[in-house]
Order: sequence, then C-alpha cells, then structure tokens
Amino acid sequence: MNNITRVALIGGTHGNELSGIYLLKKWGKNNLFSHWPQLDLTQTIANPRACERSVRYIETDLNREFAIEGLLDSQRVGYEQLLAKKLNYQFGPKGNSPVELMIDLHNTTSNMGACLMLLRKDVFNIGMAAYVKERMPEATIFFQDNLPEQRKRFLVSVAQQGVTVEVGPQPNSVLQQETLELMETMTRHILDYVVLYNEGNLGSLPTEFEAFQYTEDLVLPTDDRGQRIAMVSKRLEQKDFHPVEPGETIMETFEGVPIHWEGNYTAYPLFINEAAYHESHSAMSLSQRIIVRCADYF
Ligand SMILES: [Zn+2]
Repeated sequence: MNNITRVALIGGTHGNELSGIYLLKKWGKNNLFSHWPQLDLTQTIANPRACERSVRYIETDLNREFAIEGLLDSQRVGYEQLLAKKLNYQFGPKGNSPVELMIDLHNTTSNMGACLMLLRKDVFNIGMAAYVKERMPEATIFFQDNLPEQRKRFLVSVAQQGVTVEVGPQPNSVLQQETLELMETMTRHILDYVVLYNEGNLGSLPTEFEAFQYTEDLVLPTDDRGQRIAMVSKRLEQKDFHPVEPGETIMETFEGVPIHWEGNYTAYPLFINEAAYHESHSAMSLSQRIIVRCADYF
C-alpha cells in the first residue's frame, strides 16, 4: 500500500457527541495539528448545523448517508443527504478518493471505554490495532469488517481507509474531561502510528493482541403496536465487552419474565442501551472475543 499522508480528522458527524468537536477546537487553539508535519492533516466539523443545535442530526443520520447509490441519487435532497454529497465532493468521490485516511471521532452513551473501530483486516489496520493496543492497554479493538454491506454507509467509507474512534460512556451534549482525554490519547497514537508506518519504522509490534469481532445486533421485543415490551437486564448495565454465556438473562419483560441469550457462543455485548439507537429499539450489538496474530497478516 502507498504512503498515508492525506489524513482527514473529523468531528461533529453527530452534533451532540462533544468530545470530537472539542478535541478539534482544543488542537486548533494549541496548534497541535502541526505536531505531525509529515502528514497533510486536515480537520473538519462534518455537521455544523447539528453541532450548533447539539442534536445528533437535523433530518437523518449523516453517518448512514454514504451508500454509493444514495450519493448518486438526485432525488435525495434532505439536509443530511445533501451534506453527504458535499462531503463526498470534498473528500471523495467514494471509491476514488485522494484522502488516504479518515479518522471519525464519536461518543457513545454506552460504557465502551476507548474503542477503535476498524472496517478492514489488512496490514495497515492490523498494525494500527497492535500499535494502539500496546500503548493503550485499556483500549478496546473492535473489528466490524464483516458488517453487512448496507450497514457500511459510514462517512469514513468515502476515504481510502477509515477508522472510528468511539469513546464512552458520555451523555449526549455533555463534555467530560476523562472521555476527552481518552479520545485524545487514542487519536495521537493513531497519528503517530501513521507516521511510523510511512517510514517503515514501526519497530517490534506485539505478536498478538485481544480484539472483538462483530457478530449481530439484538433488538428489544415489541408488541403489534410497536411498543417495547422488555428492557435490557440490569445485569448487563454498563457491562459492555463483558462475557455473556448462552442461557444467561440479557433482557426482561415488564412482567418480569427473563429473556435469555439463545446463541451458541460466548457473546461480548457493546452499545448496550445506546441512547442514539432508541428509534431502532436496539438493545445492544454482540461480538466475539478473538486473538489476532499479527503474523497472519504481515
Ligand atoms: Zn456518533
């Protein structure tokens, strides 16, 4: 792969996730973007109007508007739909973008800590994961390279490579120092990694590291009027990336009937009770714990 020099750092894709927005402000004020002179590093607030109002989006979720068909569809003229076309013009076009890496900064209300979310398992991404995990052992590496195609409509999909920094728990429209610090630490490691990757100067990476692999999403059951009839079990509250064995209670109906995890594998939930997934009645996503051996990719 070519050198990665054009790097776009994005905040405010969701206007009520404040860490990314304020990280860009902070770095701008302290002139930190010049800390990586080897990179052509740009910073962009993706959805300024949503940021102004401190809402996730104005009309539709911007981070789901980057399917190729949607970007080419002249009928799609909603606010975020047009904004997606503008961003695709600015950073893309998707599939033929000059931007080698996009880093999108997000918050979650779930207790996921500092999570590096990756869309590919290639040398660049595996190396980044190993590098970040070694320097930031508290970080969680999450691979979503197996997401269904219709779910990969993220802003980062416009660039040649894209990673998401997802840090929580932080309530929407709130800025917490610890969360900002975690995001800053992870983002610095990513940018340091890119410089060393280009120089071929990574030194020795760990031979293996722990990660989590997306498996599926679980929704809360609803009645025939679309009303929820259950909630996430208190046993799982704040327990993102903790193991759940088959047969364990994961939800409970309002009549007090437990709902069990019926899969046949030890699941590691994430995005448990994430506020933004209210409309979809999502209860959580599930993953499996994996050990990634770097030698399998290098
Ligand atoms: Zn977000």
